[in-house]
Amino acid sequence: MTLATQTPNDDRGSVDVRQRFFIEDSPVRGDVVRLSRSYATTIAQKAYPEAIKRLLGEMLTAASLLIGTVKIDGHLSIQLQSSDSDSLLNWAMAECNQDGVIRALASWKAETDEQIHAWDKMTLADEAFAELGSTGQGVLFINIQPDGGEAYQGIVERTHDTLSECLAHYQKQSAQIPTLINLASDGLQAGGILVQMLPRTAEEAYEIEQNEDAGIDDDLWIRLSVLTRTVKDEELTTLDANEIIYRLYNEESVVAPDPVALAFGCTCSREKCATAIEQIGEAEALDILEEQNGTFEMDCGFCGEVYTFDKDNVTAIFAE
Ligand SMILES: [Zn+2]
Repeated sequence: MTLATQTPNDDRGSVDVRQRFFIEDSPVRGDVVRLSRSYATTIAQKAYPEAIKRLLGEMLTAASLLIGTVKIDGHLSIQLQSSDSDSLLNWAMAECNQDGVIRALASWKAETDEQIHAWDKMTLADEAFAELGSTGQGVLFINIQPDGGEAYQGIVERTHDTLSECLAHYQKQSAQIPTLINLASDGLQAGGILVQMLPRTAEEAYEIEQNEDAGIDDDLWIRLSVLTRTVKDEELTTLDANEIIYRLYNEESVVAPDPVALAFGCTCSREKCATAIEQIGEAEALDILEEQNGTFEMDCGFCGEVYTFDKDNVTAIFAE
């Protein structure tokens, strides 16, 4: 097994990674994601209730894991949408791009004392997830947006009470790929693991058929399933990615290439805000400007950046 030279947790900044691994001579591929500083920065953007912080941690981890399974230049987001207007969680989304840049945002109800109290009592990601409604209700989406290409949206069935189980079910149903997913978040750090048994190529299948000693390990997937289930939430949220892989699979021949660094970042820009103002229309935009004492302010929920436009700026947008 190839281990990175850094010792676990020696530098908080370098903990944020997606670490790929392969079990040698098998169709098994996996990834471990660990989020520390990038996650802390993401959830510091709003005064999120604890359960939402944790849910966003799981969603960010999942997005960072899943983008590793698709070969695109672009971004992948996971979106949860409540189907019930009484739900305390309106929606939540988390995104990761091919460069490992992550961001997330959620909308929740906390207007009444009762609602605030209800959030205070929740501490787990699964409790926030349950606000989507019971099994069968609530909607989960996986959006894949290749740069300059056509977007793809997959609807994930709400078959289970945890995000990880719903996503694993989706992978198995939609892609016919046996998938194990574990996600964890403690509100300070997050982490997860995804293991897949990829389909064999026709060539590989032929070779196996011709050669009984091809080294096929039928029990491998069963063994990996059992091993992967033994990982504890606190291991996923505190250990270094290589340490997690080593603890789980040290009996197997594991190959681990260089990890991909993950970091918080936002894709908002003044240009995108200008485009949004353009879509509102000049008359409406000038009305809003008037109401806001001569400035048009747009703030980005993902990163807190505030973009201010004065009357000259707004007029200029429509003069172009
Ligand atoms: Zn932003």
